[in-house]
Amino acid sequence: MSWDLDQAHQDFQASTRAFTDRQVRPLVEPAEAAGTFPAELWKQLGAAGLLGLTVPEAYGGADGGALPVALLAEELARASGGIAVTALASAYMAAPHIVAHGTEQQRQRWLAALVAGEAVAAIAVTEPDTGSDVARVRTTARRGDDGGWLLAGSKMFITNAGLADVIIVAARTGEPGRAGLSLFLVERDTPGLSLGNPLPKMGWHSSDTREVHLDNVAVAPDALVGAQGRGFYQIMEGFQLERVALAAMGIGHAAECLDLAREYTRQRQAFGEPLTRLQTVRHRLAAMEVELEAARLLTYQAAARLDAGHPEAARSVARAKYLAATAANRIVDDAVQLFGGAGFVEESAVARHYRDARILRIGGGTDEIQLEILTRGLA
Ligand SMILES: Cc1cc2nc3c(=O)[nH]c(=O)nc-3n(C[C@H](O)[C@H](O)[C@H](O)COP(=O)(O)OP(=O)(O)OC[C@H]3O[C@@H](n4cnc5c(N)ncnc54)[C@H](O)[C@@H]3O)c2cc1C
Repeated sequence: MSWDLDQAHQDFQASTRAFTDRQVRPLVEPAEAAGTFPAELWKQLGAAGLLGLTVPEAYGGADGGALPVALLAEELARASGGIAVTALASAYMAAPHIVAHGTEQQRQRWLAALVAGEAVAAIAVTEPDTGSDVARVRTTARRGDDGGWLLAGSKMFITNAGLADVIIVAARTGEPGRAGLSLFLVERDTPGLSLGNPLPKMGWHSSDTREVHLDNVAVAPDALVGAQGRGFYQIMEGFQLERVALAAMGIGHAAECLDLAREYTRQRQAFGEPLTRLQTVRHRLAAMEVELEAARLLTYQAAARLDAGHPEAARSVARAKYLAATAANRIVDDAVQLFGGAGFVEESAVARHYRDARILRIGGGTDEIQLEILTRGLA
């Protein structure tokens, strides 16, 4: 057993960092200011192979696992949470449903385009009345006269809704509860599909988040992804990779903030000497490093266990998501503190990471839901 990344993963990490430094970082501030994802980045991410890490080679992917996705998420989030989540939501939160449960026709139609960055996907589960409680989704899908389906309802907080060529929609095809949910592919411009305006958010400014309305949207019989009535279980399965990616994003924010705080405290003078001459400052930096490394280890372990089909994988993922999200929030907060007033002004990088990290305790399953997973069966 090894506690370090093997050479192949270290090489991947290095090349992903080089890509991010060269092609992502220069776009971050303009994208934040514009409130949009830089469209030119899709094809660059695709050309670098970063949108198909878990897609089979037959559709242009690398047929890899969760660990490379974690490494990618970490590097992208070091640069920008908004840009990171946009790419990750399409490639590693929505597309995996097509990989795992799509028909051959659905895979042919979408996967190569998503891997190349020529198409964008979103996943729409959350509704105005339900988020954590996925089994209570109320959007309905009933059979149309032609054997297809009519989808009706509203979805809330959908990442990439305004960019997506295809949205994977969770809808109720049967009884209340888990066994009545199914997933559908809904293509952009399908009559009856409409989007709300971009929701202004405290962070992830370059990510597109909207309400999605389905007013008797007619889709063909073959729009169903996976078996009818298996949607809840497919969503829970998809959450595993999604949570690893979100945990790794937390590590990226925290790692970047720790680097920035080290650099700043070395050069910032107070009372005639650099801040790093103060033991309390040095100890704070050390404690940030310890928390970051603990979260990173748990996240890499969760990714590796997911890839290995380990029986504890789901618990590992819940632990990693909880620790990485909460530790990242403490670390970005510490970084703002170490920067003093310079950390509070809008354009400071640590302020942006502070704003972006907050959603990681909520999205993809809240802290409390991760703790629920870990205490199941106790009460
Ligand atoms: C920026 C952004 C992007 C998002 N992107 C997407 C997306 O692309 N697709 C998508 O489907 N959804 C998306 N979401 C939705 C996100 O997954 C939900 O917000 C999240 O799952 C929480 O659901 P909720 O907001 O309805 O909160 P609620 O479920 O109403 O929870 C409110 C509070 O109650 C707590 N709570 C709920 N149940 C329990 C329990 N059993 N035990 C203890 N505490 C509990 C929660 O932890 C939380 O603190 C996004 C949200 C945001 C803000």
